[in-house]
Amino acid sequence: MGATPLRWKLAEDDGGQGALFAEEELVDRHMGRGEYRGLEFLHVNARRIINEVPKASRVPFRYTINAYRGCSHSCTYCFARPTHEYLGLNIGEDFDRKLVVKVNAVERLRAELRSPKWAGEHIAMGTNTDPYQRCEGKYHLTQGIVRVLGEASNPFSILTKSTLILRDLELLQTAVGRTSVHANFSIGTLDEPVWKATEPGTPHPMRRVEAVAKLNEAGIPCGVLVAPVLPGMSDAPEQLEAVVNACVEAGATNVSAIALHLRPGVRQHFLDWLASNRPDLVGDYEQRFRRAYQPAKDQDALAVLVRTFVAQARGRWAPPRRIRSVSRPKPRASRSAPAPAPAEATQLGFSL
Ligand code: SF4
Repeated sequence: MGATPLRWKLAEDDGGQGALFAEEELVDRHMGRGEYRGLEFLHVNARRIINEVPKASRVPFRYTINAYRGCSHSCTYCFARPTHEYLGLNIGEDFDRKLVVKVNAVERLRAELRSPKWAGEHIAMGTNTDPYQRCEGKYHLTQGIVRVLGEASNPFSILTKSTLILRDLELLQTAVGRTSVHANFSIGTLDEPVWKATEPGTPHPMRRVEAVAKLNEAGIPCGVLVAPVLPGMSDAPEQLEAVVNACVEAGATNVSAIALHLRPGVRQHFLDWLASNRPDLVGDYEQRFRRAYQPAKDQDALAVLVRTFVAQARGRWAPPRRIRSVSRPKPRASRSAPAPAPAEATQLGFSL
């Protein structure tokens, strides 16, 4: 364990509030052991844990919490990768294996929620990296955050790809009884080869579908983002219909699809990966992603197709039959906007 000087600079998506960490706070480096072998943990003390999104931002949420930076889920397309560059690390292997851990996240949250300036607004988690990525099993920061938000009756939402969220089922149930809570799973495809190739560190997509069912059965509203849909890999109608059917049958409160987008930096990373893994698609992707977002007509066509599959599936499995009612007091008054519509949120800012 030793001090590692890193270049800390705030990522734009964290709100433009200046340096996240005090300069004098050098980082302790911890090498992962056992099930965490191959990972490296960089401990920092965050100055703040609730990040305010700049007002000029188009994202439909104003406050976020990200206890970790970097993500061992290692999705090839992850748009959060460039945030590692802000730290002087690279967007490839460093992003997957060198994980920044804000070890004081829970105590900072308690202090910030107590502040008279805080008005109990909605907080979105999973906007940058996955709050239930593997190292959450070691650090339990998201667990502590969920506990504290629930105790404070502060509304929140969680977007994840990880079944580890089920570890916190009881805490989430308690929170649902006190405030507005919503979960979303990102399940881009059920196609095993595509999943293994593009999201190598994530739980199997069918385990995620089962988690959607368990959350809804437990009274925690949970939807699904079929995201991102990868041209030539996971966008065939039969692939989309399969994932929609499974999620609707699992009782997902909402199912919507998001087309892949590739911002500068991520675009090159993804194209490099494609050249090694699917060279037949490189030309098509270079054409499609001259800009970060695919043409509106292609995004619209995807949305319509998936909405059609959702409507058909809802006709077969009446919605959402597995959700049991939960008595819940009126959520604490909040000046914030309601939880973002998941599709819109992902399009505009979430990383999953
Ligand atoms: S897309 Fe989400 S789950 Fe995948 S690496 Fe990025 S933050 Fe992690």
